[in-house]
Amino acid sequence: MNILLVYAHPEPRSLNGSLKDFAVQRLQRGGHVVQVSDLYAMQWKAALDAEDNTALQPGVRLDVSLNSRQAFENGTQSADIAREQEKLRWADAVILQFPLWWFSLPAILKGWVERVYAYGLAYGVGEHSDTHWGDRYGEGRFAGKRAMLVVTTGGWESHYGPRGINGPINDILFPIQHGILFYPGFDVLPPHVIYRTSKIDEVGFAQVCEALGQRLDALGTTAPIPFRKQNAGDYEIPALTLRPEIEPGREGLGIHLLRG
Ligand SMILES: Cc1cc2nc3c(=O)[nH]c(=O)nc-3n(C[C@H](O)[C@H](O)[C@H](O)COP(=O)(O)OP(=O)(O)OC[C@H]3O[C@@H](n4cnc5c(N)ncnc54)[C@H](O)[C@@H]3O)c2cc1C
Repeated sequence: MNILLVYAHPEPRSLNGSLKDFAVQRLQRGGHVVQVSDLYAMQWKAALDAEDNTALQPGVRLDVSLNSRQAFENGTQSADIAREQEKLRWADAVILQFPLWWFSLPAILKGWVERVYAYGLAYGVGEHSDTHWGDRYGEGRFAGKRAMLVVTTGGWESHYGPRGINGPINDILFPIQHGILFYPGFDVLPPHVIYRTSKIDEVGFAQVCEALGQRLDALGTTAPIPFRKQNAGDYEIPALTLRPEIEPGREGLGIHLLRG
């Protein structure tokens, strides 16, 4: 497979840096072709702004979505954005690797998503009708591609358990997995989370690599998270609420998963 690893850590000698190097070697050993977007090393510009469209005239009011759409359609996006989109088109699988910072993505990686996910590429795709509300949540330009998060945390696994103080890890990651990845069509694999990182020593590092290696070896075969597809009949359109006869009486993020 062609694999794009989008990696966000400012220190190459960090745990994340070591795991990134390990992952690249492991994937290459498995016969995959790997490209890495090392966002700090690339000095990736995190903030979306008017300059993302090289054709925007000075003084014109910035309509962010319209600007993105026009730049994408007319080929006037800034070169760094276009390069990352080309990598996404090339990839059969995308891995986002990052330390959990304030229960989410590091800002530089969020900025990669905001800028690279152009209108017409990641959103604003497909027709809207009574039965189909755009190509999204299971459909979209990235349909047929796989995606997986590799996340390190300071918190313990129990802190992210079903009754943990931080909230369950799948709830914390829902906006990334369901919103950022499933929305534009990726098949999202269960995340690989490495907890309690401050306790990792040489022995622990070897164990962490072994577990990560197994996940990477199975990247092409692991069953995706069974998120419900928006246009497959489970949701009322255009309200986009789960039909009342499905999961009656239940609410919360878990209802968007197929069960059984
Ligand atoms: C701004 C900020 C916000 C945060 N928010 C959260 C949060 O919301 N939730 C949460 O749970 N945590 C949070 N944290 C903690 C954060 O998630 C962890 O610090 C991070 O995941 C650790 O990854 P790292 O790559 O920075 O590890 P490092 O600090 O580089 O390393 C961690 C450990 O691994 C060891 N190690 C590194 N490389 C190797 C190697 N090659 N061989 C052997 N051992 C090695 C180090 O010695 C160290 O003990 C936050 C931290 C910051 C700075």
